[in-house]
Amino acid sequence: MNEVSDALHRIRHSLAHVLAQAVQRYRPGTKLGFGPAIADGFYYDFLLPEPITDEDLPKVQKIMVEIIKAKQEFSTEELSIPDAVKRIEDMGEPYKAEYAQELATKQGLETLSFYSNGDFVDMCEGPHVENTRDIPRNAFKLHNIAGAYWRGDEKNQMLTRIYGWAFEDKGQLHTYVKARTDAVKRDHRKLGNELDIYVIDENVGPGLPLWLPNGTVIIDQLQKLAEQFEFSDNYERVRTPVLTKGSLYEASGHLELYKDAMFPAMKLGDESENGDEYYLRPMCCPHHHIVFSSRPRSYRELPLRLAEYGHTFRNERSGSLHGLTRVRAMCMNDAHIYCTKEQVRDEFVRVLSLHKRYYDLLGLDDYFFRLSMWDPEDPKGKEKYVDDPAAWEYSTEVVREAMKESNLPYREVVGEAAFYGPKIDTQFMTVGLKEFTVSTTQLDFAVPQRFVDHGIDCTYVDNNGEKQVPYVIHRAPLSTHERFASFLIERFGGAMPTWLAPTQVRLLPVGADFEAYADKVCAELRKHFIRAEVDHSSDSLGKKIRSGTVSKTPNLLVLGANEVEDESVTVRRYGIKEQRTYPVAEFAQRLLTEIKTRKHVKEWDDADSIME
Ligand SMILES: [Zn+2]
Ligand SMILES: [Zn+2]
Repeated sequence: MNEVSDALHRIRHSLAHVLAQAVQRYRPGTKLGFGPAIADGFYYDFLLPEPITDEDLPKVQKIMVEIIKAKQEFSTEELSIPDAVKRIEDMGEPYKAEYAQELATKQGLETLSFYSNGDFVDMCEGPHVENTRDIPRNAFKLHNIAGAYWRGDEKNQMLTRIYGWAFEDKGQLHTYVKARTDAVKRDHRKLGNELDIYVIDENVGPGLPLWLPNGTVIIDQLQKLAEQFEFSDNYERVRTPVLTKGSLYEASGHLELYKDAMFPAMKLGDESENGDEYYLRPMCCPHHHIVFSSRPRSYRELPLRLAEYGHTFRNERSGSLHGLTRVRAMCMNDAHIYCTKEQVRDEFVRVLSLHKRYYDLLGLDDYFFRLSMWDPEDPKGKEKYVDDPAAWEYSTEVVREAMKESNLPYREVVGEAAFYGPKIDTQFMTVGLKEFTVSTTQLDFAVPQRFVDHGIDCTYVDNNGEKQVPYVIHRAPLSTHERFASFLIERFGGAMPTWLAPTQVRLLPVGADFEAYADKVCAELRKHFIRAEVDHSSDSLGKKIRSGTVSKTPNLLVLGANEVEDESVTVRRYGIKEQRTYPVAEFAQRLLTEIKTRKHVKEWDDADSIME
């Protein structure tokens, strides 16, 4: 969805003009801001003489269709700055005038281009379609109105932004609208509330989610999974504090390069401690580096892999906070791998294969890796990146080789590296077809050396008896609990596979006479640590089934006279109409196998020799 064809880009850009033209017809006197093509369509910002609501959108869309049908030619004109300024004055567009001034003075342009179609003129760089008839008139839809400050600056006038989706044909638009509708239905903020997963409470503060019992089960299970997989990859676990003296972040470079993202300093301690400043940590790395440095290390100990589900804190702006995906307090599936230069490549390959194991297990296969490199041309590069070109080149190459060897899909982008080395983001598509970064892996060639420069012995002794500074890989395949849970909730629409489901089994006695049997079966399942509960309400069976389905519990057991008689359970799997009856012991065995293998299956296959 991200590689937009030139034709589609022209259509979207042209639609922005047509939208502006239609709005000026609908609300004469409307002034224009910017109107670009975007990833799924276009928008235009307006200063309206009178507000517009959702009900106006179909009317504006109708005018747009009329403009398209009128087969207006797009023509272009290149004007010198004085002529351009005069033209914009004639148009009576204050925002366009301001922007033209800026282009002339700050960017030193000598001419500006204008495009017109019909009676509408806009200052713009293009490109557009040749004629409005080239715009498919049934493949776009105005869908949203939002406020937007002129030039994105809250000190400026608030304008009204109208968004449209646009595609090359009706089918693509329908597919997209459906995905967006699903995205609204599966929004983790909505499901998180309906399924009692988490709350954000104003008494605690924005961006500080509280996990409820159901959400806690999900993150505990993810944590167990990570601990098992990391154990099998020879990681060792550590636990480190969330608070640290500022001097550590001077050593790590965070105060120099990352301070804006951190919570402000706290003065702690009594006078004997000189009133040192402390910070909530934004990352676990400096603490893990201290663990590494806490005693002399030999090359024989490398690679050393230190893992922690670590709590971290970021001072996100309140406007950017969003459910569980952008928060101020989070818990990360973090680890740091200390290795020699020669080990970097193999370790990186191993980390990538760990990612694949997780995603295979969860049945996720629509991802690619995005390799972010430093930008040697960036004029602000010295502020953004550690200044060591040779190390950047080596690190980028070794990560690229590891990517190739792993044979996983990846793309390269220049810029966006971490300040201490290249990084790899794992990109997924959300239900709403937006690109979403789930996790990040980084190669760090710089911070351990900074520690050494600050008198912290972050080194190992090599086989010649000489001190060396290790390379570090930062990795977090399961991201933060917050981000990963939000992603999974949306992917699964809240219907978690059995191993992750907060309640794995709900037992539904068909009447009061069968409650004792339900309690007995429930106790038997709970003995095996299966998360089972009995619906003791006086509701009808139909209603119990409905509420079990709404809670998205993967296994509902219907228990009546037949089941008591046979010591059996009748199972309704989530999303499957047909119900099956099993002896209690066989049901427990099948469920335990499913949980243990963490298999993501809807229906149990009888061919599976599940009793082995
Ligand atoms: Zn344009
Ligand atoms: Zn790190």
